[in-house]
Parts: sequence; structure tokens; C-alpha cells
Amino acid sequence: MSERLGRRQFIELGFKAPIALSLPSFLTEGEIDEALPLNERVAEIFSLVEPLSFDSKGNLVVERESKEEPDVRVFRRVETIPTQYSMTETRRVNKVELLVVHYDGNDRFWDVSGTKVERHAESTVWLLDRNGFSTHWCVDGFPIEELKEGFVSGYGVLQTQPGSGDSKLPLIGAHVKMGVEDESKVDTLQLFGKLGIQSRLQSLYERKVGSFNFHTVGFEQVGTDFDLGFPSKNQPDNQQIANALSLSIAVMKQHNLTVWDVVGHHEVQELKSDPGDYYMATLRFLLGVATLKGELPESLVFAGYEEAPDKEAYFRKVYEYLSERKKGWLWHWKDLVGYDEFMKSLSASVLQKEGESKWR
Ligand SMILES: [Zn+2]
Repeated sequence: MSERLGRRQFIELGFKAPIALSLPSFLTEGEIDEALPLNERVAEIFSLVEPLSFDSKGNLVVERESKEEPDVRVFRRVETIPTQYSMTETRRVNKVELLVVHYDGNDRFWDVSGTKVERHAESTVWLLDRNGFSTHWCVDGFPIEELKEGFVSGYGVLQTQPGSGDSKLPLIGAHVKMGVEDESKVDTLQLFGKLGIQSRLQSLYERKVGSFNFHTVGFEQVGTDFDLGFPSKNQPDNQQIANALSLSIAVMKQHNLTVWDVVGHHEVQELKSDPGDYYMATLRFLLGVATLKGELPESLVFAGYEEAPDKEAYFRKVYEYLSERKKGWLWHWKDLVGYDEFMKSLSASVLQKEGESKWR
């Protein structure tokens, strides 16, 4: 881990370094926020991120400021509505090796008696139940909030399987149906190989595991056709992306997953369309930024390539991978996350590395 300097020490260093500091790794969180050239959209997503973690029984909890004592942090379980599948399942995963990201394949807005209403995570559970499926969590486009006298506008993140009692070994879900489509799953593996990306996905195929559900956890989210509608239709809003990001950070830390162990369902089974390549590229970009902000260990995000691990290589890889999978709308994706500006600043900080090392 890199050393962290206090604000005062940083300011003193700033005087010694006439060039504006871009992203030295020893900035504190607040200072990183000031130095990162995040565009408006990404900055808003980060303003909506909530600190999530797991209790000893494997239940998801959100960390909040105590209402009575503002300086005290309290942990509160997020709402739980179990899927029917999970209520009878007692088997646990062998080991969590991947986090699989889905969408539930239904429009975000439903017409209810002539009124357009935004769906929330409970409707996703209902859809899962209709098909006998189950994921560990469901994500919607509402803030993660407490129940207000029984009234629910949405959940943000809903836990949809009971905690197993072992925080490292959750109950299995039923979200990746392997077997019939095995022949069509080579694209991701080939691309990971070509780009020097390491993921536990490779090992799962090499070991020819019988069922991915014994090796993965997953979350559903409200919506459909993110890729098909990109960039103008069917896109999840910033709140939903922030919820998915908060959850992904917590799951990665809990199970020691790298950023490339967070995979889209379509990357595991190429015939699937959820959640799509633009979405996964955005999530991976955001996970990189979260790491620069100190919310994830660098070893889970900036390592894992055949070449020397570094921050720039990671963000470049996210884009390279997307451009291998998608030929259109790349500039639009870049625009949405502010990629070019961000990379320019990151490169500048890499050029400063020699200068930095003197200061450590
Ligand atoms: Zn899926």
C-alpha cells in the first residue's frame, strides 16, 4: 500500500513541485477528488455511491451516519426479499470466483392503469420467481434508503437470498444456466487471452466446472437492451449505476475478486445480451476510478496483466476490450465517461512518476 500524506504535508509537497499534481498515488481521498478530472456524469455517480459491506452471517449492510450522533457510523441491513428458489436452497457455493452482472430483461417503466411507473427491485424478484431463477441481489434506480412507515419507493439494492450464515460462502443462486450454450462462450476467453487479461473465468472453463452457480454470485438489475439502445434508449440512470458500483465494490472486497472477475452474463454465455459491453466498460471504468479514490485495493484492479501492472494500462485495457467487442458508438462511450480527458491527466501523472518517487 502506498503511503498517505496528510493535507498539510501534501500542500507542502505542492510547493516543492511546480507542475500541477495530477494523480500521485499518495493523495488522500478528498485530495484525489479534487485532482481527478471526472466529468459531470461520473462525478454525480460517485456522489451517489454508498459504503456497503457484509455482516458475519453474509447479509449485506449499509454504513450510515447515526441520526442521534452525527460522528458515529452505524451498520444497517439492507432490505431482504428472498426469491422462492432461495427459500428452499440449502447448498452453498464452493468458492466465490466471479460476480456475474445481469439485467432482468424487462422495460424500466411499466404502464400501470395508464400511468407510467418506474419499476423497482421487487418486480425483478417477481420476474425471477416466475422463471425459477435466483440471484443474490437486485438493483434498481432508487436510492438505498430506509423504509418509511412501510412505504417503499424502491430499494436501491435489495438482498434477494438469505444470508447462509457464512459470510464467505453464500447460498448458491440459479442465474447462470450452463450446459446448452457451452460452444458459444469462447469470445470472452479469446479476447482476454489476446489482451493479456487474467480472470478466474479462464480457470473455471479449464476446470470444466459442472455449474457456474457453485462458483459465482450475481446481481440482477432493472432494465433491458442496454447495448441495443445505447446511447439513447434503455440506459440505466446514474443512481442505478451508482448502486451497482457500490455493490460490486463490496462483493469484490468480500471475496477478493479482481475487476476482471466481475463479468457480464453475456461474457459468460455469449448468447445472452445482458448487461452488454458498454455497460460493463462503464462499470470497469468506474471501478478503476473507485480504486484511485482508495475504495478498492490496487491489487484487485491495476494488476493482473502480463505486462507490468499500472493504472494507465488498466484504463487502456478497458477501452481496448470494449473496442474489440463493439465497433460503433465508441466515441459516445468515451464521451459519457470523459475518457480522453481522464486519460490525458493520468498520463501526465505517469510522466511525473520519477519526480514523485523522490518525494516518498
Ligand atoms: Zn442474465
